[in-house]
Amino acid sequence: MGGAERLKILFASSEVAPLAKTGGLADVSGSLPKAIKSLGHDIRVVMPFYKMAKANAKSVKTVVDNMSVPISDRTIKCSVDVSELDGKVPIYLIKKDSYYNRNELYTVKHEDYKDNAERFIFFSRAILEMLKHIDFMPDIIHCNDWQTGLVPVYLKTLYMNKEGYENIGTVFTIHNLGYQGIFWALDMHLTNLPWDVFNMDGIEYYGNISMLKAGLMYADALTTVSKGYSKEIQTSEYGLGMDGILRYRQKDLYGILNGADYDHWSPEKDPYIVAQYDKSNLENKTKCKIDLLQEFGLKAKASTPIIAMISRLADQKGFDILTGAIEELMQMDIIFILLGTGDPKYHEIFTKISDKYPNKTGIRIAFDNSLAHKIEAGSDMYLMPSKYEPCGLNQIYSLRYGTIPIVRATGGLDDTITDIHEDPRNGFGFKFSDYTIKALASTVKRAVSYYSHKEAWAQLVWRAMSLDYSWEKSGKEYLKVYKKILKEKNVAVLV
Ligand code: ADP
Repeated sequence: MGGAERLKILFASSEVAPLAKTGGLADVSGSLPKAIKSLGHDIRVVMPFYKMAKANAKSVKTVVDNMSVPISDRTIKCSVDVSELDGKVPIYLIKKDSYYNRNELYTVKHEDYKDNAERFIFFSRAILEMLKHIDFMPDIIHCNDWQTGLVPVYLKTLYMNKEGYENIGTVFTIHNLGYQGIFWALDMHLTNLPWDVFNMDGIEYYGNISMLKAGLMYADALTTVSKGYSKEIQTSEYGLGMDGILRYRQKDLYGILNGADYDHWSPEKDPYIVAQYDKSNLENKTKCKIDLLQEFGLKAKASTPIIAMISRLADQKGFDILTGAIEELMQMDIIFILLGTGDPKYHEIFTKISDKYPNKTGIRIAFDNSLAHKIEAGSDMYLMPSKYEPCGLNQIYSLRYGTIPIVRATGGLDDTITDIHEDPRNGFGFKFSDYTIKALASTVKRAVSYYSHKEAWAQLVWRAMSLDYSWEKSGKEYLKVYKKILKEKNVAVLV
């Protein structure tokens, strides 16, 4: 360890790839811990044992047979299993079937489960109870998004004087400020927290409980997933009502860019694509394009670019300006491919678009990881016109697949993509600033016109595929944050 101390970190997340995933949080939770582990630290992950995770987890063992978790005036019994992420990082799975053995993680028919407050109060509490039963007392608990927002509150209240818990530091990472874990005040009894935390400086938010605010107020340090987003969320435009708190906590707030897990997202070893390739073997990318067109029953000339999106169908992702621009896009010589699921209003809109332009669009309303990989490999451009974007992962994956991003300059998209016209020597993408139909349409037009210059395009692809957004650098930045917290708590660590 070269003199540096080996930290013990528990990484708590409500979704972890490849076990259970609805979005980017799962990708981060499945890959950042591996990076921290390879920097020499003892990091372990914890998440609920969902039905989806049961189908995907390998070599699962029970580590805690029977454990009690207080919820209101009840004592809930559960158990804890353990598995491993890519054979590298242990992952504890909190098993309580009545909460987690359901088809979806958070919703049924696009509506939140009615007992989500209880499900994630339980999860937060079970994480802390589990520590009494396993041989691992962390220096740091790294919490992620509202589902784990109560952990720092518990540590500063009910567990404050409990032996072993006094010195645990907490980091709370904001993956998306739009999901605030808001529940009515009558759920307070489920938390067993004292009522004095239910105020403006605590977990109360306009008369309700906000589990996101809980994390923001009580964690020792806050991070979010890009520098750009860490600044944006301190403004009223992007702060979604939390900007005041974030300005108040400014000195403890760090922007650390997400990395890509190239173990899972690299065209040279991707098991889901028809022909693996790298930047010196792009004929195979053409095979992937042909395969993708076949998948959707489409035909196109080689000179017609495929523009793709893989996304939650949510307003945040820019679908209102996209649907406004779609008629103009359909006049261009392009194929548009979309894989997504989410807001039913967009299911309807895109089904209509697909009926109107069957030869120019491939629309799949689904969540399908293997198809996501085929799309990354087979497309020429990747569109991300987000209204806001904390980091965004698909634009980063796209670069590695030689699929050139067209993005709106916001948050992590702005931080990761350099526009070719703004910086002709180093650029590798197309970017627009105004959140308008016009800016989106004209930027797509600019990209399509660039595509017709084969040599220039090939250079762009080469440059994109040469970039490295792996986790190591960001993993080191997280370690700095962990060590700073422990130093401030006067816990002996060599920094
Ligand atoms: P967010 O977390 O806001 O949804 P990100 O770009 O950070 O957006 O991450 C999204 C992740 O979820 C990516 O790995 C993407 O490929 C995946 N994803 C999103 N929608 C789908 C879908 N319909 N099918 C398969 N994968 C999807």
